[in-house]
Amino acid sequence: MPSNELASPRSVKLQLPSTVEEKVEEEPTADINVEIKKHITDNKPKRKTNFRDSINRPKIQADTPHCLTSKKLFGRLDIIDKFVGKCKINKLGPNRYTGRLYTICRALKIHPKELVTNFETTEQLFTDFESLWDKINPGKTTEEYRKAVRKFLTYNNITIMPHSKAIPATTDSKGDYSRVHLTNTEFTQGLDFIEKKAGFEYKALYAIMHEMFPRPETLYGYTPNIDIQYAEVDGKSYPYGETEIFEKKQKKYYDKIILDPRVLKITSQLKKDVPICNKPSKVIEATLSAVLRDFYKDIGKITEGVMYKKGIDGWLYTNRPIYTLRHSAAMLWMSRTNFNATLVSKLGWEDPKTLSTYYAKTTVKNIMQSGTCYYCRPPQTKTNMAVFCSPTHALAYYFKVFNFA
Ligand SMILES: [Zn+2]
Repeated sequence: MPSNELASPRSVKLQLPSTVEEKVEEEPTADINVEIKKHITDNKPKRKTNFRDSINRPKIQADTPHCLTSKKLFGRLDIIDKFVGKCKINKLGPNRYTGRLYTICRALKIHPKELVTNFETTEQLFTDFESLWDKINPGKTTEEYRKAVRKFLTYNNITIMPHSKAIPATTDSKGDYSRVHLTNTEFTQGLDFIEKKAGFEYKALYAIMHEMFPRPETLYGYTPNIDIQYAEVDGKSYPYGETEIFEKKQKKYYDKIILDPRVLKITSQLKKDVPICNKPSKVIEATLSAVLRDFYKDIGKITEGVMYKKGIDGWLYTNRPIYTLRHSAAMLWMSRTNFNATLVSKLGWEDPKTLSTYYAKTTVKNIMQSGTCYYCRPPQTKTNMAVFCSPTHALAYYFKVFNFA
């Protein structure tokens, strides 16, 4: 990695897939109780005996306050009812906060009023919650929980100390993965590797992900229906693929283009209007993740046994192996369009800023490359990341180098 990659922009989208949030609300309350005991006995001697008594009981325990036995009861508490009212006055959806407050209270077995006695106490409680959370969801952010607590404090007129380290106002730094990508050569290696290890369907998923970069959950259910179009370059006509993909998260259709003739060929071998792989999403995800991790190891992106910290490229390759391809695709498309973020963002991002900040940051090298085109204005020394003045020139170039002409 070049040294001009800097840490600490933010990307909410990257780290907070909806599944994470759901997990927190519904998942292992029993485990939380076990974990909380271990942790909290150190800090709260008075509660010690209660926790000891209840350690092996599932979910609702003798010492769980009655108001936490159901979300409904929790919602009926005066303090929560008032909070909801204030949220509504301020035109905020209260559910975003109350669900998380419920989780926190239930994990800590406290009445919500304990969260708003004074700021120091809240800091301590939230720290307790985070250490439980971290054992159950290592590496996952508590950002939304922090926001809920801060809002709860504010609406209960508790002064939040500025620069609090325990409950900071800042959005999490999501690390900078904006230069994560596969080179042209590496992508080609991936086609062979994945077909050999996991079969044609997984090769197709990999190729489509890298060319059209839908969200992973969209990819699994995607039913290919690709129109072949033709672009004329220097008197020759070249086929490319055109399709659209509906992204549920944004409730929006995105146009997608397939330029790489190898990917277009793969899609032509798929059945129309049925999912690429006829297996449950969970199976597809697990298999594709596993084979991709093996592939990343094979090409030296990650090393077996190394624990990568968040913010380091290796973390993304290891922990978001499929999502990594969306990053790579962003770089690929930028290189096909003379680094035109406005144009590329039309293919799958809300706005050019998200794309160029989190997915494909333009480097000095890119700026110096602008105007270069491997088709019409090739550099003397070629690298394994070709750049083009326009998508059509990329298309013509691919036909030449991949022997499709
Ligand atoms: Zn050109």
